[in-house]
Amino acid sequence: MDLHKALIKAALKIPRREAELLAAHALGKGRAWVIAHGEYSLSATEAEAIALTVEARALGSPIAYLVGEREFYGRPFKVDQRVLIPRPETELLVEAALARMPVVEASVLDLGTGSGAIALTLALERPAIHVTAVDASAAALDCASDNAAALGAENIAFMHGQWYAPVAGWTFDLIVSNPPYVAGEDAHLKQGDLRFEPRQALTDGSGDGLDSIRAIVAGAPAHLAQGGWLLLEHGYDQAPACAALLAEAGFTECVALNDLAGIPRVAGGRKL
Ligand code: GLN
Repeated sequence: MDLHKALIKAALKIPRREAELLAAHALGKGRAWVIAHGEYSLSATEAEAIALTVEARALGSPIAYLVGEREFYGRPFKVDQRVLIPRPETELLVEAALARMPVVEASVLDLGTGSGAIALTLALERPAIHVTAVDASAAALDCASDNAAALGAENIAFMHGQWYAPVAGWTFDLIVSNPPYVAGEDAHLKQGDLRFEPRQALTDGSGDGLDSIRAIVAGAPAHLAQGGWLLLEHGYDQAPACAALLAEAGFTECVALNDLAGIPRVAGGRKL
């Protein structure tokens, strides 16, 4: 079978663009190559590899897991079922953090690092800082460490444990987190990519989805240097609750930032 025919067959089940991406991955080429080489004659193994991923995609598997990679802030991150797939809106959190990073030798803590997308982006954008990345999932930390090695980040350390537990007694200039914030019963958990992602990265099971954010905000003052910032990603309807939690914990200069879709997505404040 030639590539063109395989793509036509795949497009009966999934969007053409996705079929091209999956074929490119199976053949170890770029999407542009696939589009330009419809006459390429597939070996039986290649045809089978494409058919298998197309079938998995038709059943809902996320593209990022099927190709094993997702771009974040211009860099490729390896991703699989151990970690949440980095979202474009999380680049807003990175930009907010870069804008508030002290100029020299800052120490940064990332809580719930997952693939390491946030922590590694900060570490690579600012080689003079030191980043500590924590996750409760040892499997996620394995993935993040692989990404650190692949991307060549050396100014980062990974620690295993729940929120601040591995960094008891330490203080940082900046704390960032994209914690689980989807409400436990939210219907989105049963839709799209979320069905395949680690449940603990999406939701802590709390009714309002805010238990993790409560724990992170409550623990932040004790782990921030004076003048240090806490910046958090949150759900589409959680900005007022986050603002209240930050005020309650004594944060000043509180910010609420909108993502590219105009939805409040990042909350933060500064320790006096
Ligand atoms: N932004 C993700 C979603 O709703 C959730 C990620 C998270 O809980 N941190 O698809």
